[in-house]
Amino acid sequence: MSHDVSAVFRPGLLAGQVALITGGGTGIGFGIAELFAELGAHVVLASRKPEHLESAVTALTARGFAASSVPVDVRDPERVQAMVAEVDARHGRLDILVNNAAGNFYAPSESLSPNAWRSVVEIDLFGTFHCSQAALPVMKRGGGGRIISISMTLHYRAWPLMAHAVSAKSGIDALTRTLAVEWAPYGVRVNAIAPGPIPTEGVRKAFTPPASSGVPDVFAAAEQRMAAYAQQAIPLKRWGTPRDIANAAAFLASPAGDWVTGAIFVVDGGEWLAPRPMAGM
Ligand code: NAP
Repeated sequence: MSHDVSAVFRPGLLAGQVALITGGGTGIGFGIAELFAELGAHVVLASRKPEHLESAVTALTARGFAASSVPVDVRDPERVQAMVAEVDARHGRLDILVNNAAGNFYAPSESLSPNAWRSVVEIDLFGTFHCSQAALPVMKRGGGGRIISISMTLHYRAWPLMAHAVSAKSGIDALTRTLAVEWAPYGVRVNAIAPGPIPTEGVRKAFTPPASSGVPDVFAAAEQRMAAYAQQAIPLKRWGTPRDIANAAAFLASPAGDWVTGAIFVVDGGEWLAPRPMAGM
């Protein structure tokens, strides 16, 4: 079966809309920005590092798409307010917010420093809250909007050495359901997407355990025999791509997602449900 979905979403589906994507300069966030821009939205990419933002905006505008950037650290509520104010001043609207920014790394909980714990929880969970709360008044004024947060599936089971990330993403799921109900009267739909494994640069770094932990480097080992690993670990027998997540985001952002709120949309090829592959794979 073909994986070409270029005919699924009609051209101009998101024309006239403004989409703010945190962490939109790299990996999955960039994949979402790319599809939203292809569908006619003006995409605003927001993260800390100018090198991420500039190269991504250049790549999109070179293809004739509407894209710009705002620097932000989502941990800082004042900067987040200023980011949304800047988007509002430039465009006078905000239709879609994608809370995609996150930090992650392997670390044993026993020795996880308070700063390391705080950093991941602040980027993932606090950042999602700060951005959603800041976006709300602009969305309310516009008669509604779509908030899509990027979660994960690792907290559906134990995931040793990632207590910080799984705790933060559990919080994002709870926040998604609660905001969905609180903000439904404003026409704001609040959903999350839980991606399965997608070998972005970011995840490669996060899944490389410290040599001292004694934990096998599952991702590096998998990369050596990627096709074979995906055949065993993922029922749909391939790794995910940023486009897989972008397709789900485009559905949630489109009129087809009009009656969907509070959903956690798992997009993982069935990975989290499947039995673990045998050791040594
Ligand atoms: P990634 O490329 O490393 O994306 C993380 C993004 O977050 C970067 O663009 C980074 O940009 C931004 N960011 C980090 N800290 C920030 C902060 N304090 N303020 C603003 N932006 C910040 O990794 P990815 O794999 O695409 O992950 C994207 C999302 O998917 C994350 O939410 C991740 O948890 C989720 N996810 C990924 C997978 C996977 O297998 N790849 C699976 C499940 C869930 P700057 O460095 O420029 O700030």
